[in-house]
Amino acid sequence: MSNRRILGSVEPIGLLHVVATMPDMAAAGCRDEWSTFDAAPYDEAAELAAVNICVRCPTRVQCRGWYESLHPQDRPAGVVAGLIVPSRRRRAAAQS
Ligand code: SF4
Repeated sequence: MSNRRILGSVEPIGLLHVVATMPDMAAAGCRDEWSTFDAAPYDEAAELAAVNICVRCPTRVQCRGWYESLHPQDRPAGVVAGLIVPSRRRRAAAQS
């Protein structure tokens, strides 16, 4: 989960809630792994690498709680708390 990816995928109306409720990222496994997490929605190897980082992350429980507290429309795509969340575009492509 990178801040850049999250902020780019959220509707403005939910942005304050998303930012205000984010878990403490100081110890997050993804903190210095932006390139892996940013590539994850488009690159299967990066996606698996990101999941492996999440599995070892000390803030995974808080991250999962934060993710589930978000309105479904505000939830970022990619890898979050070890979940692989397809983007709206990817879900639409899979359905066509
Ligand atoms: S669980 Fe994954 S996405 Fe969440 S803070 Fe940890 S490394 Fe980042």
